Amino acid sequence: MRCENCGAQMKSGRENYLYTECGLDSVTLMNVEVRRCPDCGEYEVDIPRIDELHRLIAQEVASKKARLTPKEVRALRKYLGFSGTDFAAVLDVTPETVSRWETGKKQMSPVAERALRLMVFVRDPVAEYPLEKLAEVAQGEAIPLRMMLRESRAHWKAEAAAAA
Ligand SMILES: [Zn+2]
Repeated sequence: MRCENCGAQMKSGRENYLYTECGLDSVTLMNVEVRRCPDCGEYEVDIPRIDELHRLIAQEVASKKARLTPKEVRALRKYLGFSGTDFAAVLDVTPETVSRWETGKKQMSPVAERALRLMVFVRDPVAEYPLEKLAEVAQGEAIPLRMMLRESRAHWKAEAAAAA
């Protein structure tokens, strides 16, 4: 395969890839195929079944115990397909409040945070999410969830997600 940028032959290999394109800084895709151009540094990542992957990332974040970070709030809101304005209307807050949540100027109320987490599971009820679990989430400080995701036997799996 040739580089789209400079035409050199791309080199293909498997790597652990920090998947910042998902809007979070703490998600690593393990052992995915990356093609790199040795001349100009251009690269392409091969990410299979991206819808399933994004669902897994959203569900892992929605299940974590620690409070959501501003980036996680934003990533979940986008995963749900809400504009800032629509999301504000759903939670009966102003768009400015949503903006403050996502820039870290203000922390979500615990009630709003649990509603957001629940929406992730209502939208795509693939994973089991016992409602009792809501009693345990959104506690303590906001710490980003670090996750290592691996694709195996035709499914994405969370191999290691920090307990936070
Ligand atoms: Zn190149």
